Amino acid sequence: MKKKAYWTRHTHLFRKDEYICSVCRNKAPKPTETCPNCGSVMRGSRTDVNWVDEMEGMDAILDD
Ligand SMILES: [Zn+2]
Repeated sequence: MKKKAYWTRHTHLFRKDEYICSVCRNKAPKPTETCPNCGSVMRGSRTDVNWVDEMEGMDAILDD
């Protein structure tokens, strides 16, 4: 049975979004139908909202 592959979208505060292959962890600037690195067929994408954490880090700096 083939692994289900999907893109995980990582959002950043100061950088462009990136998409990470769930199978090989290859990073891509945009979601494609298949992973250019491992060839897995992508079933979709989900979003990890990283910029929220990055924003909290900013607050800590600004409070100082
Ligand atoms: Zn891959």
